Amino acid sequence: MKCPFCGYEDTKVVDSRAQDDNSVIRRRRLCEKCGKRFTTYERIDTVPLVVVKRDGTREMFEKSKLLNGIVKACNKRNISMEQMENLVDDIENSIMASVSKEVNSDSLGNMVMDRLKELDEVAYVRFASVYRQFKDINTFMEELNKLINEKKKKEN
Ligand SMILES: [Zn+2]
Repeated sequence: MKCPFCGYEDTKVVDSRAQDDNSVIRRRRLCEKCGKRFTTYERIDTVPLVVVKRDGTREMFEKSKLLNGIVKACNKRNISMEQMENLVDDIENSIMASVSKEVNSDSLGNMVMDRLKELDEVAYVRFASVYRQFKDINTFMEELNKLINEKKKKEN
């Protein structure tokens, strides 16, 4: 959540409580840059999110389905359930923020991969191999090399 005072991207939730019948959650947030506090209200969005598949058909975006795929990719890696849930929430929020409330399955996969890459490289490669359905060892190696090159760039 962006700070409304200084625009800084990283704000911390310092308190959150449900209101009324649990349909609204009020969060107090603290900007880590300017130190100002502000409040956000989270409401259940009843607009369904849609995934457009490669063949043009549409299906409902299911958080649990996406989370399952991520849990599999993160098997035996040092990533907490909370981190995985945050990742899925983050993706859901970006689709919700889009005008169309739709995402095509390729972009959805890329959104997951971008985030997994930051968390854990092994999980990323696992997810990519399922998602991109690497046809052979060469495409797999290409992906790995890309990852290694990006890492080198960052280190320099
Ligand atoms: Zn701020």
